[in-house]
Amino acid sequence: MASPLWQAVLGEIEVTIPRASFATWFKNTTLVKSDGQEVVIGVPNVFTKRQLEEKYQSLLEQTLHKNGLQPEKITFTIHQETQLQKDGRTNEPAPVETTQKRQTGQQRQTDWSVKPKSRSNTSNLNSKYTFDNFVVGAGNELAYAASQAIVKNPGEKYNPLFIYSGVGLGKTHLIQAIGNEMFRKNPDICIECITSERFTKEFIASTLQKKTFSDKYRSADVLIVDDMQFIAGKEKTEEEFFHTFNALHQANKQIIISSDQPPNSIPTLEERLRSRFEWGMTADIQPPDLETRMAIIQSKAHQHQTNIPGDVSEYLATHIRSNIRELEGALTKVLAHCEMSGQTPSIPVVEQVLGSSQSKRHRLTQKQIVEKTARYFNVTPHEIMSARREKTVSQPRQISMYLLRNELHLSFPAVAKAVGRKDHTTAIHSVSKIEQSIAEDASMRQTVQQVKEQLYA
Ligand code: ADP
Ligand code: MG
Repeated sequence: MASPLWQAVLGEIEVTIPRASFATWFKNTTLVKSDGQEVVIGVPNVFTKRQLEEKYQSLLEQTLHKNGLQPEKITFTIHQETQLQKDGRTNEPAPVETTQKRQTGQQRQTDWSVKPKSRSNTSNLNSKYTFDNFVVGAGNELAYAASQAIVKNPGEKYNPLFIYSGVGLGKTHLIQAIGNEMFRKNPDICIECITSERFTKEFIASTLQKKTFSDKYRSADVLIVDDMQFIAGKEKTEEEFFHTFNALHQANKQIIISSDQPPNSIPTLEERLRSRFEWGMTADIQPPDLETRMAIIQSKAHQHQTNIPGDVSEYLATHIRSNIRELEGALTKVLAHCEMSGQTPSIPVVEQVLGSSQSKRHRLTQKQIVEKTARYFNVTPHEIMSARREKTVSQPRQISMYLLRNELHLSFPAVAKAVGRKDHTTAIHSVSKIEQSIAEDASMRQTVQQVKEQLYA
């Protein structure tokens, strides 16, 4: 059973360090033992052991501490079970070569009907995202139906499939579920799943090394691109992707795209890409209603092999509305607490575990976010609201917008208004710029984290 405590620790580490590092060093770890004195972490091999000991010891200590553990020592053991978890499929986000099925040059025809033969064709899909554990409600019905249709008739009706929604509402889950289901039905097809950030990075790396860009995406049967918004404004990468898209589309290969906005709202997306994204099917995911949120909690609890009483799941679902990732995080915290303290989940326990952070969050106002961000950067709120464009002012302004959006879940027009702007596209652009910097730049990640701590200090 996956330990909720360890899930909570991993969840926090995942958002603190670069994605690739997390996937390489933390993903296949388990909690072998934890008591007041010692925490033993199971790792798959000696490389991971060494890396965690040398580089991540203090991060682990801090994160364990945050989750209520202060062991005297942390040790690592090479753990059999951790190795066995890899059942022949990789979960790592780094793209895995699947060359044996590939032909360069002309696109081969895909025989979508081939029956399963072997599981030799791997792809970097995360097997935890399936249709089975995706809860369908009014907000995601259309996107779900379109996803199912694609599995039945790939490369035909809905090509591309473009799914968009706000953060934490299930885009990644759904598009990966499509890939997993297609792979299950036909392990011989070649599925490439990648974020647009990674596509960009690989493309830039190939340019710097003066190599031709890998043709692996052009020769996939199914190309899944997550978080397409990050490609916007990167002209050369957009051009490369445009050609990839055309090659695949012409050969009736299935293309699946996710983004935080519909194609016509992504700022600075090249027109020809925008129009292609609208060729097929566009479906949005709306925030789930109360019943769906409760069903999701039950489903997640089930994955942790526990049950949550109805009143507790209702309490959680009533208090956390905007984002499923947050809902899941709250549940994980509650389960971790129960695991450590030997209590069963109940409303008083939930209040105890989440109470303080929830109520603090409620007390925070728009004005405070702007003021506290300004203070952190030694500028005045007046300057943030002004038209000044120097970086010393514009960056705190962008970070304010990012925090207004993420901490208070304001709409983009409201975010813009809170910093004295009329045009909501400014807010969209600023928020996505900070999101991107956080993903790419550790010092930015740290800065934003520190500002956030000030907000709730
Ligand atoms: P996004 O990519 O839109 O930001 P994710 O797909 O990463 O969101 O979803 C965030 C978390 O919420 C994931 O753990 C995912 O499994 C879960 N989730 C989202 N929607 C659903 C759903 N309908 N049913 C079950 N879990 C869901
Ligand atoms: Mg996602």
